[in-house]
Amino acid sequence: MSTHKASLECRHISLAYGATPVLRDVNLKIEPGEFFALLGPSGSGKSTLLRLIAGFNQHQSGELLVDGQDISGVPPHRRGVGMVFQNYALWPHMTVWDNVAFGLVERRESRDAIRRKVGAALALVGLQDYGQRRPGQLSGGQQQRVALARTIVIEPKLLLLDEPLSNLDKHLRVQMRDELKNLQRTLGLTTIFVTHDQEEAMTTADRMAVLDQGILQQVGTAAGLYDEPRNRFVAGFVGTANLLEGTVTALDGQTLCFDAQGLGRLTLPAPAQPPALGAATLAFRPHQMHITAAGAAGDAARVWLDGRVESAEFLGEFSRYRVRVGEVALICDQPHDAGVVMFEPGAAVRLGIAPSQARYLSA
Ligand code: ADP
Repeated sequence: MSTHKASLECRHISLAYGATPVLRDVNLKIEPGEFFALLGPSGSGKSTLLRLIAGFNQHQSGELLVDGQDISGVPPHRRGVGMVFQNYALWPHMTVWDNVAFGLVERRESRDAIRRKVGAALALVGLQDYGQRRPGQLSGGQQQRVALARTIVIEPKLLLLDEPLSNLDKHLRVQMRDELKNLQRTLGLTTIFVTHDQEEAMTTADRMAVLDQGILQQVGTAAGLYDEPRNRFVAGFVGTANLLEGTVTALDGQTLCFDAQGLGRLTLPAPAQPPALGAATLAFRPHQMHITAAGAAGDAARVWLDGRVESAEFLGEFSRYRVRVGEVALICDQPHDAGVVMFEPGAAVRLGIAPSQARYLSA
């Protein structure tokens, strides 16, 4: 099966339904062969953007380039784009083989070519022995593989997947995640998928774009977004974060004062690239904090806060505490080993923030 690796670029794309803006000035470049996720909460505009790339939605302004050519206005079937819908949209009365062959028959390909290509596509998704079944006789995961085979058999330049794993139960989802990744690697096809599940995006995609309210918040690798979120939204959506609102009130080469709302003044070592004075959010991850009993001496490189445990959850690999510090609740994860005794709700504790891991966000 021949594949062409296309690039895709959105330049200043905007789309509104009536007076309601749904995509606002989206700028995005997806490289040839990338496995790319559009990640965001429900209603953030992910599906609208995917459908726009497929040609089912039209943007009102901006350019949509495939391999540098503007395809705005080109009808869906002329775009060389294959889309797998969330519900798979298989024809129930047709066999698996006929479902997969359909697009080739429509294109009037020769019987030999159809036999060869359908056979190859079914083999690629591991369904070579299922050609004569009907979709209703297959599991959810197998139906999805048929939908994939049906789409890749037409050799699209771009593969679009709308929430590809959301119809599967959790166990199957993890398995299909790997299968999808392997298939994408094998084909090397530029692939864009929509998901609201950050774990799915992080484990599957090479890079991802985080959307909120139709605005592209940040683009990057999973680790890039996790370690260096640009704003509060990304910090809270990609992974779990403690977000302290406050003001950077003083700054010299060595130290920084952060007046945290509901918590008081924190004096921290200034980072190499210090934030501007003024309103900011201090972000740090639950597992980056240490927790000790009140009064215990802690690592001097950390900034320690006194608090009281509000809740404690044992999760196996780690324990998750919610700790009240001043008027703020902070989440702290402690790795678990046999013999580690958990703190009970009500216990007086100290939390140690690692300043090198803390990030100052502007919005
Ligand atoms: P997501 O895929 O991130 O859940 P969508 O792209 O489906 O979000 O929707 C983004 C916003 O656009 C939502 O507020 C939704 O209600 C609105 N929307 C989607 N389709 C239409 C439509 N055909 N007409 C009007 N509003 C729509």
